[in-house]
Amino acid sequence: MLPVVALVGRPNVGKSTLFNFLTRTRDALVADMPGLTRDRNYGYGKVGSIPYVVVDTGGLVVDARGVEQQMVKQALRAVEEADRVLFLVDSRAGVTPDDHYIAQTLRKLNKKVFLLANKAEGVDSATAGADFYGLGLGEPQAISAQHGDGVRSLMDEVFEGIELPEGAAAAGGQDDIRVAVIGRPNVGKSTLINRLLGEERLISFDQPGTTRDAVFVPFERDGQTYTLIDTAGVRRRARVEEAIEKFSVIKALQAVDSANVVIGVIDAHDAVTEQDASLFGMVAERGRALLIAVNKWDGIPSDKRDEIRAGLDLRLPFLDFAPVHFISALHGTGVGELMRAVKHAYDASMREMATPELTRVLETAMVQHQPPLVRGRRIKLRYAHQGGRNPPIIVVHGNQIQHVPDAYKRYLANVFRKNFRLEGTPVRVQFRADD
Ligand code: GDP
Ligand code: GDP
Repeated sequence: MLPVVALVGRPNVGKSTLFNFLTRTRDALVADMPGLTRDRNYGYGKVGSIPYVVVDTGGLVVDARGVEQQMVKQALRAVEEADRVLFLVDSRAGVTPDDHYIAQTLRKLNKKVFLLANKAEGVDSATAGADFYGLGLGEPQAISAQHGDGVRSLMDEVFEGIELPEGAAAAGGQDDIRVAVIGRPNVGKSTLINRLLGEERLISFDQPGTTRDAVFVPFERDGQTYTLIDTAGVRRRARVEEAIEKFSVIKALQAVDSANVVIGVIDAHDAVTEQDASLFGMVAERGRALLIAVNKWDGIPSDKRDEIRAGLDLRLPFLDFAPVHFISALHGTGVGELMRAVKHAYDASMREMATPELTRVLETAMVQHQPPLVRGRRIKLRYAHQGGRNPPIIVVHGNQIQHVPDAYKRYLANVFRKNFRLEGTPVRVQFRADD
């Protein structure tokens, strides 16, 4: 599983600035559900040599009252789930009582903590950190989250000695398909998983190493072997109420990373929330194949179904590649088809495409819809080759490629998707100048 880094510190020390820098994005996944405060951000870390999950825990405040108490509780839970903790302090403001309080809390948790004196750009690093030795967390490191000073080397040090996670890319080429089931509490993930595992043959369930608590559960269906990634502990859950207690965005993101194919479950009775959209968006960002399962379809009267279908298109517009399945995990309706789509999406993500075929499709696409003129000169795209699998990367060579409009890029991605039957997997189209 991907290692997890938690950012902690009092408000205004620069946690979200560091988060944005580490994830290289501004649109983080924001949790929005009962029992979780809205201001925690989650993302995949991109700075440093290995992939990881980053959590901005929000402010840890002293004397928390009311909603703040809930926030502090969650921040601490995120810290408990983390492999590494980055504790930010403000080198310009100096040590504050809140810093001492947080340091004290962290010292009790027995985690690997890195003390970061932020906002240290243009300041001598020894001077920037000098104030903070008294926190009892070792030597402070001076960084600037805003400018990125010191962050790269920091991240390399943070993960020194940590084992590289075996992601989906590593699993590629093996026979079994790794499947993760994600979604908000109570949408029916456990029911779906239990149906899949209950109906199908569990492979070597009683052998040593495959205990009932296993996170990776192998099973077979229609002659295909799958491994279910149950990081959320849905299989072992006794009560429905436990769903919310056990729900962890961190674990969901880890599962997504380890999977070849992700089944994103939503409840047909509920509107698609921002949280669903951003969680599934993270799957696409991570390059994993994705299917949307609209569950509890059995409870929807037939005159309501069209309305729900139309609503989905509106709320998940960026998921043009993810097929939607309407299922009943409870009754098993549509589950067989869903699993056939999982296999199809996996095959699509691993598809090999030859250069002549890709180039032929590119040429046809350009005939049907010419690339635009840029200052009187037409953009010329000459040929395409495959740059990678899982997800498929198609590299298009040509001139003036920096001027290819986004709409045209999307057009080409869709043409490639159609021609190579790449349903279910994200497709990356990259452009390279040939000169
Ligand atoms: P958070 O409340 O801990 O998430 O803090 P923010 O990331 O929102 O940052 C608080 C303020 O500090 C913002 O105005 C940031 O622009 C500023 N800030 C963050 N990092 C740096 C830095 O490295 N240098 C300077 N000069 N300002 C920073
Ligand atoms: P999870 O928290 O996402 O794992 O959700 P659960 O699998 O625990 O399901 C939450 C509730 O929805 C339970 O009461 C299930 O019986 C019910 N449920 C799950 N799938 C279906 C379905 O397809 N149809 C109906 N009517 N109820 C379902």
